[in-house]
Parts: sequence; C-alpha cells; structure tokens
Amino acid sequence: MSDVTRMTATEVAALVAGGEASAVEVTQAHLDRIAAVEDRVHAFLHVDTDGALAAARDVDARRAAGEPLGPLAGVPVAVKDVLTTKGVPTTAGSKILENWRPPYDSTIVSRLRAAGTVPIGKTNMDEFAMGSSTEYSAYGPTNNPWDLTRIPGGSGGGSAAAIAAYEAPLAIGSDTGGSIRQPGAVTGTVGAKPTYGGTSRYGLIAFSSSLDTPGPCARTVEDAALLHSVIGGHDPRDSTSIPQPVPDVVAAARLGATGDLTGVRLGIVTEFSGEGAEPGVLAAFRDSVETLTKLGAEVVEVSCPHFQYALPAYYLIAPSECSSNLARFDGVRFGLRVGDDGVKSLEEVMSLTRDQGFGPEVKRRIILGTYALSSGYYDAYYGQAQKVRTLITRDFNAAFERVDVLISPTTPFVAFPFGSRTGDPYQMYLADLFTIPTNLYGGPAISVPCGLSEGLPVGLQVMAPTMADDRMYRVAAALESAVGTFTPPAL
Ligand code: GLN
Repeated sequence: MSDVTRMTATEVAALVAGGEASAVEVTQAHLDRIAAVEDRVHAFLHVDTDGALAAARDVDARRAAGEPLGPLAGVPVAVKDVLTTKGVPTTAGSKILENWRPPYDSTIVSRLRAAGTVPIGKTNMDEFAMGSSTEYSAYGPTNNPWDLTRIPGGSGGGSAAAIAAYEAPLAIGSDTGGSIRQPGAVTGTVGAKPTYGGTSRYGLIAFSSSLDTPGPCARTVEDAALLHSVIGGHDPRDSTSIPQPVPDVVAAARLGATGDLTGVRLGIVTEFSGEGAEPGVLAAFRDSVETLTKLGAEVVEVSCPHFQYALPAYYLIAPSECSSNLARFDGVRFGLRVGDDGVKSLEEVMSLTRDQGFGPEVKRRIILGTYALSSGYYDAYYGQAQKVRTLITRDFNAAFERVDVLISPTTPFVAFPFGSRTGDPYQMYLADLFTIPTNLYGGPAISVPCGLSEGLPVGLQVMAPTMADDRMYRVAAALESAVGTFTPPAL
C-alpha cells in the first residue's frame, strides 16, 4: 500500500470502505507521521493517541458488522483547540485554560464522531483565536511546513500546518476575521469559512459571537466540501444556527472539477485589486483571473466602496464582543486560579488570575473592547462600527445583483518571518484586510491555492452570498483543476 498520509481524504475513505486498509492502520500511519515531524512543525497542542485509535477501532467494527459508513469514515481529522472535546484537553491556546478538560463535545466534534471520522488531536492557535500568525499562542508558535522560519498564518495556524505537513488529511478551523482562510493561503491548503450560522457554535469557545464560524480545512476543494457537509447544518443548541440544510457543496465541488465555468460571473473587487498587496501576490492573482476566464467565466470589476472601513469596524466590534465573552474566565468556574490563599479577596484572585492567565494581545483587545462599549464612547465607536457593518452588507448585496461571486487575493502577503509583525499590532491586523468584510456580512468564502510568489504559496479568495456556499466550491474546484495542488518541500 502506498503512503496513506499523502492521500486525499476521499481516497483514504475509499480505502477504508473497500477494506483495503483498516481505519486503525490509517490512524497509526498518521500518528507515526506526527511523531516524525512534530518537533519541527508543532501543529498540535495535544495528540489524542488513545482516543483516535479507539475511534478507528469503532469504525473497523462497524464495517465488519456491515453497517453503512459515512463518506469520511476512518479519516483522521485535526481539531482546532478552540472546540470543546469531552475529556480531552481544550485550551484555546491560553494559559488560563491549561489542563482544562471539558465535560462535553462541541456539536462540530459530535458530528465528526457520528460520521466516523477520527479526531486525532487538538491544534495550536493564537490565544482565543486572536492573531494572524500563531505567535500569540501561549504554548509557542507553529512553523510553516513550506519554510520553518515563517508563520503558518493564524489564528488557525496549527490546523493548516497539520494538513500541509501530512499529519492529517483534514482539519477544523474557526474563522472570525480570516483565521481559516489566511492560514490556508500561506500554507498552500484549502480553507473555507461557511455562511455564518451554517455551522454550529455550540462548544466553540467564543471570541466574537456575531462573527465566529467553524469550518473545514483540507488539501483539496472536494475534501473541504465533504468535511463541510459532515459538520454543517442546523443545530438547535445554537440560537444563531440557520434552520435550513447546507447547499450541496460536494456536488458543486465535483461540478467545478470538470473545469467548466461557462456562464459564471466573477466580480473583482476594485478596492482589493490594487494597493496593499505584495507584487508577487497580485501577479499570482492576475494569472488566476486569466485562468478562470479561460475556463469560461465572465469577469467584471465591481466597486465595494465601504470595504475600506471593514478593518477598523472589525477592530471595534470583535474586541467589544470579546471583552464581554472573556469575562467568564474569572478563576472561579474553570481553568487557572492564582493567589487563592484563603486571605485574598475574590476580586484580588480574579485580577491575579486574569493578569497571569491572559497574554498581551488578549489583554489589548479586552481593554479596547471595554473602552468602545463604555457609556460615554458607545455611540462614537461601537455604534458607528455597527453602521459601517450595515454599509458593507449593502455593498455585498449590490455586488451580488451583478455577479455570482466576488474574488480577491486571500491575504496581502505570503508567509512572513517570525517576529516581523509582532512589534506593531496594525501590521498584524493587515493580514486580514481582504477576509474581514465577509465576516461582517456573514457570507461564505473560501481560500484556494492559486500559485507561488518567491517560492511560497498564494491563495485566491472566492466570496459568495449567504447560504450560497455551493457557488464558492464550484469556482474554487475549477481553479484547482487548472492549477493543481501544492506540495511543500520535503520535511
Ligand atoms: N486575525 C484576526 C484577529 O486577530 C482574525 C482572527 C480570527 O479569524 N479568529 O482577530
């Protein structure tokens, strides 16, 4: 049998379904790969060896009993450490949750288990999903498999690096401002942010509740679509979950793979096609536009004038919501507790715990958000940002009257060296210049590898209307059929 760790999830699932490999063999091969490369990559915060092998044995037993298996049964999947896993450590990349073992599974993880996939471990991330490089993880950064001296993106750098380094064929991320798509772009992998409310937030440790969206990471568009279909759909446990089925994203990916985009209208966002991005990124984007045109797509330019205010609006809305969400980490209910000596007051213990438990970026956001929500400044900052959010949504709605999807580079720059953007928060925030508008609007968007710049991967972003997730898969799969997939230099 050839190396299963190099196969797509679709291929691995077919091996297991056909009895050519057991789920245990597939899982062991990935655990061996993790053991071989993890000291260089550090994609995982916790590898759940026993849990993964038990889940794999269960799939093998079900197959032996003749029970029907799901389309991804027996396939290992790495899970971002922001999703709760029953009895398995869940830290959100923070010291404040060190050693916390949740008493329940998030809906995403329950669905992964029910589908027979094999959750293999928890991946590294910027603390509470705040960041674009994984450098803000309290447990040290993840290294990009393309160049170990560079960032793998963030906040879901661990998930993207795990699949790029062949430690798992699939991973789960969460996208609040770009944390699935930007890591996908800089690691040469596929990352999709579903429609907000199309995937459940139950058991997703909250950062910014009106933006947070869990979603799939994979090495191919079809694999991402399969994973999306397994985890997506209505969840009564999440009050913002959309009570409608997920569009047929798998069929759309397969249609796209035929390489025919005749009749599909693509909009290039004027505001995103010029300044702000590296020349190599813009060159790869222009080449992709030409490729998409050759596949039959019609390309027009569309202006979205309010997109330029998306970044500042996001950096008021997201910190505001985080300042409220992170109030639950009080040293009393779960996780770290500092200074509880029987003498200090509750308030002192709370303050010491939060001081030692949170890192500098998280503190910055809590302070910013608390300020923006304070009564004297609410209208000037938070209220204003919400108005901008409405204008951005109107830009999207107007654009989608003219085109089926919008396209742009995913992120303005390729993977940057460690330390090069941590000194100035704004330089880090710019990584999400092109991804944030979608989060404010709530629609779906995908990043698909489209080329290389200076030997490093570049991603193309496809943005679609809410609940039209299928459209982005079709376009992404068509591009993939033309440009192929990207393999990092040997680790
Ligand atoms: N990089 C953005 C931030 O730091 C987005 C993070 C995310 O999508 N979770 O907030």
